Amino acid sequence: MAGNHGIKTGDKSERRLSLGAKLGVPAILSGMMYSIKHLFRPKVTLMYPEKKPELGPEFRGRPVLVAEEGKERCVACGLCARACPPLAISMQAAAVESDDPKERFPEKFEIDMLRCIYCGYCEEVCPEEAIVMSPEYDLNFRNREDAIYAKDRLVVDKEQLKPRLDFLAEKRNPNFGDDVYQFDPKNNIHTLRNRGE
Ligand code: SF4
Ligand code: SF4
Repeated sequence: MAGNHGIKTGDKSERRLSLGAKLGVPAILSGMMYSIKHLFRPKVTLMYPEKKPELGPEFRGRPVLVAEEGKERCVACGLCARACPPLAISMQAAAVESDDPKERFPEKFEIDMLRCIYCGYCEEVCPEEAIVMSPEYDLNFRNREDAIYAKDRLVVDKEQLKPRLDFLAEKRNPNFGDDVYQFDPKNNIHTLRNRGE
């Protein structure tokens, strides 16, 4: 026993393989059968990037700023920038001088797409539903500066974001209206709660 680590040699119960099994023939045949079976199944792969997948509203692509009647909803509160784990968002607030109920707007708003991890925290904390995750995911940059998206590339009309906005309206804060959370529209003229009214 010493030297063979306790393995008995010449044991009668040892499995004997035929020559075909030793050459791996059954394994090759079963592999080929598996491949042939899958040849006739519907394909799940796409010829990307010529063909792109249709993504549902639950997909979190790059974050964008929602615009309504040509103006971004954002009130430059800074919550999204505070919540962003990789510090991808930076903004500069300015006072609104017209009689718009908004007091502030983002004069400058930038997201560094090389930092963004598509977590969706910015969307979650925004009290205005002003930043949402879009279905866009294939971003290409030639240099680091290209990856910093300013308002010209961030602001998107709400009609283009309707699937995501509808999804959020349905799924977000399911307790709204119950005793858990009673919203009073008089308390906040901006909140997303009264957007549909
Ligand atoms: S999705 Fe996440 S990482 Fe990207 S900007 Fe929003 S909070 Fe920051
Ligand atoms: S949390 Fe919303 S309203 Fe506040 S700065 Fe960010 S996008 Fe604008």
